[in-house]
Amino acid sequence: MSRTKSAQWYARACESIPGGVNSPVRAFRGVGGEPLFFASGDGAWLTDVDGNRYVDYVGAWGPLILGHRHPAVIEALERQLEKGLGYGASTEAEVELAETVCRLLPSIEQLRLVTSGTEATMSAIRLARGFTGRDVVVKFEGCYHGHVDGLLVKAGSGALTLGTPDSPGVPGGYSELTHVLPYNDTPALEAHFAAHGEQTACVIIEPVAGNMNCVPSQAETLGRLRTLCDEHGSLLIFDEVMSGFRVAPGGAQSMYGIDPDLTTLGKVIGGGLPVGAFGGRRDIMSHIAPQGPVYQAGTLAGNPLAVAAGLATLEVIQTEGFFDTLAARTGGLLGEMRRLGKAASVPFSTNQAGAMFGLFFSGEDSIRSFGQVMAGNIEHFRKFFHAMLENGVYLAPSAFEAGFLSAAHGDAEIELTLRAAEKAFAAIGD
Ligand SMILES: *Cc1c(COP(=O)(O)O)cnc(C)c1O
Repeated sequence: MSRTKSAQWYARACESIPGGVNSPVRAFRGVGGEPLFFASGDGAWLTDVDGNRYVDYVGAWGPLILGHRHPAVIEALERQLEKGLGYGASTEAEVELAETVCRLLPSIEQLRLVTSGTEATMSAIRLARGFTGRDVVVKFEGCYHGHVDGLLVKAGSGALTLGTPDSPGVPGGYSELTHVLPYNDTPALEAHFAAHGEQTACVIIEPVAGNMNCVPSQAETLGRLRTLCDEHGSLLIFDEVMSGFRVAPGGAQSMYGIDPDLTTLGKVIGGGLPVGAFGGRRDIMSHIAPQGPVYQAGTLAGNPLAVAAGLATLEVIQTEGFFDTLAARTGGLLGEMRRLGKAASVPFSTNQAGAMFGLFFSGEDSIRSFGQVMAGNIEHFRKFFHAMLENGVYLAPSAFEAGFLSAAHGDAEIELTLRAAEKAFAAIGD
């Protein structure tokens, strides 16, 4: 498999773009080697600039739950293109998108659109602080909420891959207000609230963590968190930028049956275009400008093209059986992969939440903590990743990212993936 052109473009990119990439995990630092440059995507497939084809399990890092160039999304975009790119003013479609989200996630009574997940979490935290008049924010080890200054503390995703959970450039005063607790650890929650409950504005959590690989919350711990927030007047924020419309039509909150006070969204809600959103209880959301005093704004917020792609995507995922089929196919793929790992005597386990999954090179059956994720065999993952790539399967280039299936992944793609996995498990022994 030749990657000459990718290599040439990467060398050229490194001259004009820091590290050659516009987001750190893309750089392959977590797996070694050089990033690919892609020319096109279609359905479940990606084609790189050298003409190599890969079954794609990154899906643009989550948004492409329908695969690349789904006809409904392309058609919606073409319809909007006829009418212009944006007006910086109100449109009908943004109201429809807000109504759709409020219907699918009933804990959301009002919604504000932004242009990225980072903006969504940043705004939700400002709102929580403004609403409660308190400063302390709680986050969890290994959870990533975008590159918000005060949340880049023990963060996941690229911050883990690069080994820099704490970034220079974040004033100490910011991070001091961020308390970091271990994930899935009820005693740590109890201890925090006993000591700092009255100062805690909010707790932000990925209810299904997807940035330290895929690690679902334990239902009891999440339930206890809801109760503790209520008892102390702290707001509970579910960061569902990744899990929203990905693990179920109603997000992780519907899986656990727990209503957060605020929810942040991104990725799938934009159908591949830049959209984020935050929303929740009406009495809280009414504190946002212009209705209330907490300032938040965006030039491109509610951009008509992005809203069109998002609405078209949300429409398709609501069709009867969409998630059941996707989750069953994801489960089938993972079951077969575990079988292949076992046959090759490679310690290997998996996690799944709907159409989102985690692959762990670990002998432990149930991965529930950040420590367990970190104890996985990174060298095995690296070998596996490169062998999969050689055999036409594109996984996220880091052991700390979740994988995603799309509705375009059919039997042929799954079959190819399993043939590649068999070779990749064998390569680990070499
Ligand atoms: C991706 C992600 C973000 C950040 O979204 P961006 O659009 O990259 O800013 C925030 N939270 C979670 C859970 C994410 O997965």
